[in-house]
Amino acid sequence: MHVAVIGSGYVGLVAGACFAETGNDVVCVDKDAGKIERLQRNEIPIYEPGLEDLVRRNQTEGRLRFSTDLTRAVRDAEVIFIAVGTPPNEDGSADLSHVLDVAGEIGRAMNAPRLVVNKSTVPVGTADRVEAAIRAATSCTVDVASNPEFLKEGAAIEDFMRPDRVIIGVRSDDARLTLETLYAPFTRRGGDRFIVMDRRSAELTKYAANAMLATRISFMNQMAALCEALGADVNLVRAGIGSDQRIGRAFLYPGPGYGGSCFPKDVKALVHMAREAKVSADVLEAVEIANARQKMVLLEKTRQHLGADMRGKVVGVWGLAFKAETDDMRESPAIPLVDGLLAAGARVQVHDPRAAESAHAIFGDRVLYAADPYSAAHGADALVIVTEWLMYRNPDLDRLKALLRRPLIVDGRNLFDPARMRGLGFEHVGIGRGHG
Ligand code: NAD
Repeated sequence: MHVAVIGSGYVGLVAGACFAETGNDVVCVDKDAGKIERLQRNEIPIYEPGLEDLVRRNQTEGRLRFSTDLTRAVRDAEVIFIAVGTPPNEDGSADLSHVLDVAGEIGRAMNAPRLVVNKSTVPVGTADRVEAAIRAATSCTVDVASNPEFLKEGAAIEDFMRPDRVIIGVRSDDARLTLETLYAPFTRRGGDRFIVMDRRSAELTKYAANAMLATRISFMNQMAALCEALGADVNLVRAGIGSDQRIGRAFLYPGPGYGGSCFPKDVKALVHMAREAKVSADVLEAVEIANARQKMVLLEKTRQHLGADMRGKVVGVWGLAFKAETDDMRESPAIPLVDGLLAAGARVQVHDPRAAESAHAIFGDRVLYAADPYSAAHGADALVIVTEWLMYRNPDLDRLKALLRRPLIVDGRNLFDPARMRGLGFEHVGIGRGHG
């Protein structure tokens, strides 16, 4: 099938490469000419495990191209995906300007009937608006479908190639058939992975999924705070509740608050949608409030031990990305932490195996970028762990202790066992690991 993907960011690039991998002829379009030039040279602008090889292979074999020419891509394609960003507006609603701009451009480019599929995360009713924007610009027939994306950064290719489910919101059998054909190679493992519904339900499914996951995180963060106040261990509570099949073990880890490009903006957008529809959003509002507070937890814990005035103090930070296996720092809890430490007068030494470039755009020269985890800990009065990178899980603890000026570890991901750490002479501060 001839496929065009408009928007070559995390979602567009992964979707385009995976469609090419299954034999389709794919062109990925972006308005960012610099990004397209880099991609044409096989320089991948983001870090995503396995993506570079996948792109190179499909590029070399001629199934995957990159272009800024939307008109040509639309004219050559049978199916056109929209995968541009939908960042939050000031009032929390999703900014649809990129999606609607692309819809207008597709309409102006069309010279034959087309299927347009929206992959961006968009409020309920956007398929109608996209359809109207395209129709206003062309007399050709257009069919618009909704196909929200559920990949996780850090495991995006695996998620795309072996999805738990593919959600399709359609108005016609033709659209359903085309998308079933396109996704068949990815859904072979189980017949029920392909879920067809109306467009509005598909649009809402994406927000509902992210809001449910964000709710679990805020819930567990609140349980962790209770554990600290009452002398219980959240790891044990987690094991206890996770064994209940109705609850399940996944996504029950407390931490420094959720970040990334999706959960924060999608919860906000859903709150906004509920308000507009005059439906109470109190559960979602509480999830957001709890998360905003949680993002200050690592700074608070560090302050409790080093004091509010950190002039003359050095703090090491392990991990800047909002989660492991990505270079994405959007809404990362590392940002309020580092800003707070700097405001308190501390010198900050950071390490992240992949996010140093993204970090530089945020912190500039205000922090020291360590080449390896041990250098970030060198001479520090505290080491704060923000991201659960594998390389931080089993460090040489004797070496670490010798490097730290004060053996204080604020373990934002509960990587270490508190009793073991105390036995080794560390002051260990976890999340929800009993008193202290
Ligand atoms: P991104 O910011 O990484 O990429 C978006 C790309 O679209 C950019 O390269 C931008 O230059 C391009 N673009 C914007 N306007 C354009 C135009 N008029 N013509 C051509 N290109 C244009 O965004 P992303 O993270 O890939 O997210 C895209 C959408 O998918 C969002 O709605 C997001 O919520 C959703 N989503 C993201 C993820 C994720 O993990 N990142 C997962 C699921 C869904």
